Amino acid sequence: MTPKTAGALLDRYRVADGAKFRLKDHDPADTGGGLVEHSQLDTLTADGVSRLSDLQARLYADDRRSMLLVLQAMDAAGKDGTIKHVMTGVNPQGVQVTAFKQPGPAELAHGFLWRVHAHAPSRGQIAIFNRSHYEDVLVTRVHPEMLDRLNLPGPVGGKKFWRHRLEDIAAFETYLARQGTQIVKIFLHLSRDEQKRRFLHRIDHPDKNWKFSAADLIERERWDDYQDAYQAAIAATAAPRAPWFVVPADDKRFAHLIVAEAMIEALQSCDLHVPKPSPDAAARLREAEQALRAE
Ligand code: ATP
Ligand code: MG
Repeated sequence: MTPKTAGALLDRYRVADGAKFRLKDHDPADTGGGLVEHSQLDTLTADGVSRLSDLQARLYADDRRSMLLVLQAMDAAGKDGTIKHVMTGVNPQGVQVTAFKQPGPAELAHGFLWRVHAHAPSRGQIAIFNRSHYEDVLVTRVHPEMLDRLNLPGPVGGKKFWRHRLEDIAAFETYLARQGTQIVKIFLHLSRDEQKRRFLHRIDHPDKNWKFSAADLIERERWDDYQDAYQAAIAATAAPRAPWFVVPADDKRFAHLIVAEAMIEALQSCDLHVPKPSPDAAARLREAEQALRAE
């Protein structure tokens, strides 16, 4: 894919300024408006995956920048499959995937950003968050009774409370960006109908039963509340340094391509260099070469 096509494609889904963002304007079944041939999807993704692998090696060698990929989605939107497909070929030593589940006692005893900050990427590394600090303004917003466990001072759960949390997230991401972390946030945008199809598929196939949990249905009943929470979260935290991509996820293969291209674009913008040896180090390399050849 040419950089121009990739740029145009990513622009369709990029939200770098939340002021006018409306989730309702984004179609989960979109497939690129003619910018990509459907028959080319696998070839294009394979090519993207290989470029991503090269860029990750450069990120590691450059050792100045890091990358954070945040993956958020409703159940069955394909977070796990996206990680698997997009990260094949990338050196496992350069990537850490963290899945954020319901917080435990130590996590509940700290501020909500504590556990995520601990998994932020170190220099040269890619960190992938499978769910993230956004759960604290999504699932917690849909189920505000979760706040009871936090023993927070002051009124909790009101409009101002959520605005402050979103401000804290935006400030945290600005901080990471200023420390050299390139941030890409993905919302795998699934339709309610496609979720139903995927749940039924999991129920109908015994080898997939383990992927289905009855709790998923309870969350599905709160679909509209989740969409509202996503709307508010994306609108409040989309920024040039921490853009969201609202990736149509009804077609998994299309979603994989977009996520790969979003990561590639972000890494390309980092101006990564493989360090050149200093004159001293270059001289030592030549000496070593001579010594080896003379053996
Ligand atoms: P999959 O179901 O595909 O394996 P998953 O990400 O849904 O992946 P689960 O173990 O099913 O993993 O769910 C993790 C649960 O933890 C989700 O319901 C999520 O909302 C919840 N969770 C994550 N972070 C928080 C948080 N900060 N507060 C409350 N609940 C959270
Ligand atoms: Mg789940």
